[in-house]
Amino acid sequence: MKKADVREFFSRLHAENPEPEGELDYVNDFTLLVAVVLSAQATDKGVNKATKELFKIADTPEKMVALGLDGIIDHVKTIGLYNSKAKNVLALSEMLIAEHGSKVPETREELVKLPGVGRKTANVVLNIAFGQHTHAVDTHIFRVGNRTGLAPGKTPLAVEKKLIKAVPDEYGKHAHHWLILLGRYICKARKPECGKCPVVDLCRYKAKTL
Ligand code: SF4
Repeated sequence: MKKADVREFFSRLHAENPEPEGELDYVNDFTLLVAVVLSAQATDKGVNKATKELFKIADTPEKMVALGLDGIIDHVKTIGLYNSKAKNVLALSEMLIAEHGSKVPETREELVKLPGVGRKTANVVLNIAFGQHTHAVDTHIFRVGNRTGLAPGKTPLAVEKKLIKAVPDEYGKHAHHWLILLGRYICKARKPECGKCPVVDLCRYKAKTL
């Protein structure tokens, strides 16, 4: 996609939704990190339902550790892969206490060393908690990046690298939120709703549903 088209693409998404937000509930950086770890292969809605009570009693690494594995499992057992996710939440809480003064670290290198935290999770936390211009490429962004021609790539990392290059700086903070929302609600996997799409004339997808 040409530079001018990319700028126009994001300026339209910006005009429609100037301050987009993620759909996961959290109360501080720590609970954001936990919510993102729990959200792998699960819906935000399902995670929010489970964390509503959990975060009332465990909103710090110390309180999470005090809750213990069984206590965490008790709260998250409605979420897929809950056993391993609960173990990771406990282990990352212990590591935050031992190595980071109970704070969520601000670099990708440190974040990905935490149990259960991969590049995508780290990118979400860096973006939302610390305002960094990272792009957490999930299934929606991967699809939208490829369909539109904005950031074509065979792997999430390839798409992420293209986005880093393509997205104008002034849109860097919110770009991944806009792309997730576009993918989740309009550019759907099975049947994109191109007739409702704000960037339909800029998109290069050959099989548009018009
Ligand atoms: S025009 Fe269609 S394929 Fe292109 S981004 Fe919009 S919904 Fe997706």
